[in-house]
Amino acid sequence: MSEMKHNWTKEDVLAIYNKPLMDLLFDAATIHRVHHDPNTVQVSTLLSIKTGGCPEDCGYCPQAARYHTDIEGNDLMTVQQVKAQALRAKSSGSSRVCMGAAWRNVKDGEEFDQVLEMVRTINKLEMEVCCTLGMITENQAQRLAEAGLYAYNHNLDSSEEYYKKVISTRGYEDRLETIDNVRKTNVTVCSGGIIGMGENIEDRAGMLVALATLNPQPESVPINALVAVEGTPLEDQKPVSIWDMVRMVATARIVMPETQVRLSAGRTEMSREGQAMCFFAGANSIFAGDKLLTTPNPDVGEDMEMFKLLGLNPQKPFVKKTQPETIEATDSQYQTLGEKPKWTRPNHKIERNEEAKQKAKILK
Ligand code: SF4
Repeated sequence: MSEMKHNWTKEDVLAIYNKPLMDLLFDAATIHRVHHDPNTVQVSTLLSIKTGGCPEDCGYCPQAARYHTDIEGNDLMTVQQVKAQALRAKSSGSSRVCMGAAWRNVKDGEEFDQVLEMVRTINKLEMEVCCTLGMITENQAQRLAEAGLYAYNHNLDSSEEYYKKVISTRGYEDRLETIDNVRKTNVTVCSGGIIGMGENIEDRAGMLVALATLNPQPESVPINALVAVEGTPLEDQKPVSIWDMVRMVATARIVMPETQVRLSAGRTEMSREGQAMCFFAGANSIFAGDKLLTTPNPDVGEDMEMFKLLGLNPQKPFVKKTQPETIEATDSQYQTLGEKPKWTRPNHKIERNEEAKQKAKILK
């Protein structure tokens, strides 16, 4: 177990978040410099390997089948397509590829085997491989680990209380269960959330408490600013201010000093000055590429210009942890169990999710 502080309370976190900004920035930057190289930022590439048609009702997500958005759904990409994109990403400075599939959970079978092959292929390119595939069982996590997965992403999204106001098709404890299953392997945990969904500061602090009290803490915490997409229940949310983003990044840095804090969705709305302040406050990763799953993201060329301007260097892969070994499918020690992760079906309805669903029925 790590020696990090794990008994953070909401009061502790709020006291940090609400500090005068200069004090907050100074404290966060000081901690950042102890644990990380302040002039190095990891560039990660997010690939949507299966887009749209998801049965869940996450209020922020244009990939939920029940809402009417202009997302074009795609079947699972081939291993060759993924390899070509990973090579392109590597040549433009990415050291990590994160593959996202719009699934509620992983189902054993051909498609999961294909994803395992993608993991093997990218790991052999000497890039960190991350997957975000929904809920997984321990056996599925072990099979991903065997293939050479470096990280598994499963976001907590918000505080437990606010989560119920955004998603009604599964519970917060289901998220924690998947994170726990990942923790039983040598795969690292990536888990963060989204601000700007209408939550209050207590909810932001609640999410950070949920993450920082995990032991060990997640190796990676993405902080996203909501990109409000037409047709989703959160379509009318106002963009978050850069000050909120800076405070969130700095607070995450202070309560999780070793963690890679990722400046994720919403960067198209941020100026370079704003992003520079986030890097100073402890953000040490960005996602590259003109799309973040389905929402817009700055072009990689623009990001590289920004790096040059700020004197930042892209981080090499496997800095925090050595490259995992890849075991071929034929040598796997795990059998396919055909099991499904268990999840709770909360008996509550979210009015704005229901309204968006009804509107979609009329428009479809
Ligand atoms: S966030 Fe993931 S689980 Fe939720 S609707 Fe979108 S694709 Fe599905």
